[in-house]
Amino acid sequence: MKTRQQIIDETLQAHETTTGGPDAYSPMIQAELEKRLTEEAYLTCEDFAHFDVKCCDAACESEPHYEMIDVILDDDRHAWVCCHIRDILIRRTKKPPAPGPKAKKKGKLVDGLFDGEPDSVAERLHAGNVAATSDEEKLYYCLKYAHHKSGRKSGDQSLDSIVQQALKLPGGRPTKGFSESNPPQNYSLCFLCGALTYLENLIPETNYHNCRVMRELLQKNRESHPTEDTQTDETQTRGEDD
Ligand SMILES: [Zn+2]
Ligand SMILES: [Zn+2]
Ligand SMILES: [Zn+2]
Repeated sequence: MKTRQQIIDETLQAHETTTGGPDAYSPMIQAELEKRLTEEAYLTCEDFAHFDVKCCDAACESEPHYEMIDVILDDDRHAWVCCHIRDILIRRTKKPPAPGPKAKKKGKLVDGLFDGEPDSVAERLHAGNVAATSDEEKLYYCLKYAHHKSGRKSGDQSLDSIVQQALKLPGGRPTKGFSESNPPQNYSLCFLCGALTYLENLIPETNYHNCRVMRELLQKNRESHPTEDTQTDETQTRGEDD
């Protein structure tokens, strides 16, 4: 379990080296976390280590404030987890086909990025999950699916013993629901820090991501070409006035 404040602090700290910094992207991350984290305490991915599934290091890692999911467990506790853990908790083996409001908001660039070749193993496990008649059976298929898709952390336990253990621990029973964020439409990807960019997090009047690395790069450019940035602009403005 982590407190709400712990999650906020750790998330901001993790972003400090890339997108973060008090005058960069961090205020947006913080505001979103403060809005979405309404409980005092949450279970986190660490509390589901017994699933033996690798965490999502794509979207959930770079945009945790938008991509992490709030799942309500059967005992009313909340879990703040990445998509891999969420899918096991809610016993899901396939993204819902209909484009929800969130899918529509996602930019073209990111859509389809993870749609690879047809995966017959995944299809079979999904079919097993759909046909399953008990939650234990669903848990089995979801774990197997997650291990197949995302890889295992250690891999030294049999799937049957993981399932038996998982049944007795948090997430061992059907969850009550989950909530996702409603991110703004993304604009592009920052080639320096890898984060998605939104109009909200661009440096005003530029197409540049307002992140630490980008700001440092622009600062360095300004220092090595002190005249280009300011004087050229002024000359152009004056030229237009004439
Ligand atoms: Zn995780
Ligand atoms: Zn994810
Ligand atoms: Zn960036």
